[in-house]
Amino acid sequence: MSLRLYDTAARAVRDFTPLRAGQASVYVCGLTVQGPPHVGHVRAALVFDVLRSWLERGHGLDVTLVRNVTDIDDKILTKAADAGVPWWAWAYTNELACTRAYDVLGVRPPTYEPRATGHVPDMVELVERLVERGHAYAVDGDVYFDVRSFPEYGALTRQRLEDLEAAGDTDTDERKRDPRDFALWKAHKPGEPDTAAWPTPWGRGRPGWHLECSAMAGRYLGPDFDVHGGGLDLRFPHHENEQAQSRAAGDGFARYWLHNGWVTLGGEKMSKSLGNTALVDEVVQRVRPVELRYYLVAPHYRSTIEFTDAALAEAGAAYRRIESFVQRAAERVGAEHGADLPDAFRAAMDDDLGTPAAVAVVHDTVRQGNTALADGDAAATAAVLGPVRAMLAVLGLDPLDPRWAGGGGDRLAEVTDGLVRLALDQRQAARARKDYAAADALRDQLTALGVQVEDTPQGPRWELTR
Ligand SMILES: [Zn+2]
Repeated sequence: MSLRLYDTAARAVRDFTPLRAGQASVYVCGLTVQGPPHVGHVRAALVFDVLRSWLERGHGLDVTLVRNVTDIDDKILTKAADAGVPWWAWAYTNELACTRAYDVLGVRPPTYEPRATGHVPDMVELVERLVERGHAYAVDGDVYFDVRSFPEYGALTRQRLEDLEAAGDTDTDERKRDPRDFALWKAHKPGEPDTAAWPTPWGRGRPGWHLECSAMAGRYLGPDFDVHGGGLDLRFPHHENEQAQSRAAGDGFARYWLHNGWVTLGGEKMSKSLGNTALVDEVVQRVRPVELRYYLVAPHYRSTIEFTDAALAEAGAAYRRIESFVQRAAERVGAEHGADLPDAFRAAMDDDLGTPAAVAVVHDTVRQGNTALADGDAAATAAVLGPVRAMLAVLGLDPLDPRWAGGGGDRLAEVTDGLVRLALDQRQAARARKDYAAADALRDQLTALGVQVEDTPQGPRWELTR
């Protein structure tokens, strides 16, 4: 079965054929580390975490995933100055906050996570190639991309040059050959920290945002690679400019462009400037991280997610139905069952990462599993548990994965289970000596802690209700 992906550049679903047999190379634009991440910020990382997982588990490909960190930028300089700290300290503090958010949501670290400031020589070299080929020019230390020198400019977003507005990244339009020329390199300005400038043949300065990604993609993935991804809002000008720079310099660059939809709040794209954000750190105080992951991964990656507490609660309840089956089934028949992915799940994922249909297959299979459990049919239960866990593993949502086993990992979950079982043994002993008041008191204390106890023919089982 072949994987089909919606390529934004072609505006069509295309068969995915990797450039190199058995391998796939993916570049996804990372965050500009100017503040702690909100839910909208982390969606791209989650979407491309699932794509990577599907390329690996669904198609046996060896995936190289690059997700950069933009650690130099106008906003970082401004905010750091306002806070009275060095720009690089501000950037690093927020980079750590982003890493924490990715970790807590179970996003695997990329193969490489380059920082823009660590790749200035690659960027300078790329600008030199563009100047040599007649696609870039320097004016007083700034270097601009000459959009009229490159007929393909606008191809990614199917826009004609005449229809485009002036590039808004500089306030010195009169020095450009064309107002739509965008900055590759920005000269050091008076008042900016000396540490935020690097020496180049055109004088001291710092990179433009678009240039950073082209240089880092080239460094880690070579001149040609398979997939370039990011949020929908990056299509123009960021991705258009990335493609123009790299192709004008002679590289083939990305063969497929994938863009994920926005997370909105109150109908508007979640954004710091609008003030309608939900920080990841805050949301995971209210809901379990695995439930937030389910909420963000279950909708199709190209759809818009309107963030509401009601929808989040509904997603949490849906996930707990899956989790409850997996836990009860594993208690009954053991956790280890090798399994193939159901064909319907494969077909859904191969159809442009159709997670809504894939998640529906998980729920259908769980319903069969619950029937098998109720019938006490161990063989049928085991036959369902394996595929359910295999499907959930693709989505990063397997409840038995150690990453979801409590804040402190496996060990904490083990100790908690031991302590709850100790309390349950005490309750059993109280009942045996007909001290029902003591038995009920133990149960009430567990309930108060959020531990719900259910008596089953196999003995008491427990789960956390919050
Ligand atoms: Zn980028």
